Amino acid sequence: MDFLPIFLDIKNRPVLVVGGGNVAERKVSLLLDAGADVTLISLSLCNSLQILYDEGQINFKKGKFSKDDLIDKVLVIAATDDHAVNESISQLSNAKGVPVNVVDNPELGSFIMPSIIDRSPVQIAVSTGGSSPVLARTLRSKLESMIPSAYGRLGKLMEANREKAKQVFNNVDERKKFWESILSGPIVEMVMAGQNEKAEAYLEQAFINAKQQAPQETGEVYLVGAGPGDPDLLTFRALRLMQQSDVVVYDRLVSKQILDMVRRDAEKIYVGKERSNHSVPQEDINHLLARLGKEGKRVCRLKGGDPFIFGRGGEEIETLMEQGVAFQVVPAITAASGASSYAGIPLTHRDYSQSVVFATGHLKDGSMNLNWSGLAQPNQTIVFYMGLQGLPVICKELIAHGLPETTPIALVQKATRPDQKVVTGTLKTMPNDIYNSNIKPPTLIIVGNVVKLHEKLNWYKG
Ligand code: SAH
Repeated sequence: MDFLPIFLDIKNRPVLVVGGGNVAERKVSLLLDAGADVTLISLSLCNSLQILYDEGQINFKKGKFSKDDLIDKVLVIAATDDHAVNESISQLSNAKGVPVNVVDNPELGSFIMPSIIDRSPVQIAVSTGGSSPVLARTLRSKLESMIPSAYGRLGKLMEANREKAKQVFNNVDERKKFWESILSGPIVEMVMAGQNEKAEAYLEQAFINAKQQAPQETGEVYLVGAGPGDPDLLTFRALRLMQQSDVVVYDRLVSKQILDMVRRDAEKIYVGKERSNHSVPQEDINHLLARLGKEGKRVCRLKGGDPFIFGRGGEEIETLMEQGVAFQVVPAITAASGASSYAGIPLTHRDYSQSVVFATGHLKDGSMNLNWSGLAQPNQTIVFYMGLQGLPVICKELIAHGLPETTPIALVQKATRPDQKVVTGTLKTMPNDIYNSNIKPPTLIIVGNVVKLHEKLNWYKG
């Protein structure tokens, strides 16, 4: 190990920064975030440093650095653009035993600055020992995306209850076990979802239960949208819940790649169609979710696209609510957004379409009970979900209700997946075109003049 990582308390302590440019400014903001009393020495100030000075946030000495400026300082940062000056600041600081960082030449100083992920009171510092700041930043952005900002709130909640835990458990091991069970339980999700009061109440109860040795009820159902197929389009929250659930209840639209991302040892229950050729009735799914939740399990109900857009998510949570089972709903990219983006067909466009409607094209007894005249409006985009079988009916009705036969229409098959396929035509030609083609579900239908843009804006090559 080339360096010792430490976290320094510099609240209200005098720190010196030499240099008045943007590099110095970045260091100054960090020092101010950590509560330091910053003195800056420079011949001139960049705009943002001038503002900090005008606001009284920093002390400023206009001029050159001299040895006496080091008196009483607990930390020094040399951030001028003159290498020789930086070097002399470093030498003098080292001689006085004051920790110094040289911005353009980390080896010269006695400490280096890490890349920081700030979730105060939780902080993560990443360093490559100066060998590659770019690598440190890349790692930092990975960690940034994996560690939600709410970890700060979680840290604060635990900090606020530290003393209490010491009173309740006088044995260190017991205390550790308690916090471990808390951190692997639902409280983390409560905090992430912004349910702070609920989290506090849960913790309160957990202290009581721990004293009485009563088991904690932890069941919860997460209604998670899995998006249209490309795993990169999952939300951070979706991924986190997928990875901490005990059971996953999924259906046909959830791609295999996404399913591979759920916790490895989670029980997986398939409730879709196709494989057995008939699906589990919705009513049964609703009750299955409620039962698993009541058994104390963390249940991930994983659904294609968004749970609240033709996803029957509303029915599922209605049952959960009736039966008093805790739940959360995680929105996702719906097929219309996914297909539109990946096919280069904007759903609205100043020249072509001022509104967009999502409709179901599901056939019931050979017809669709839709407000056709409301749909067949000029300058409107219509997106049909579940409309492949009913496509001839859709085209016929839209023409009958006033859309020109030449209105463009696109079918987007397996949108956002590597085997995405887009077929375009007009309301008149499309039923015949697809008659002979090999289009397979899931397919989304987009009708309207925006489809004309596909040829020009088609960027996704799978
Ligand atoms: N809740 C889902 C929709 C479920 S209804 C969502 O928000 O996307 C099922 C229909 O969604 C399919 O018949 C198809 O029309 C559409 N669909 C879902 N995923 C799709 C995909 N990757 N490509 C094209 N259409 C898709």
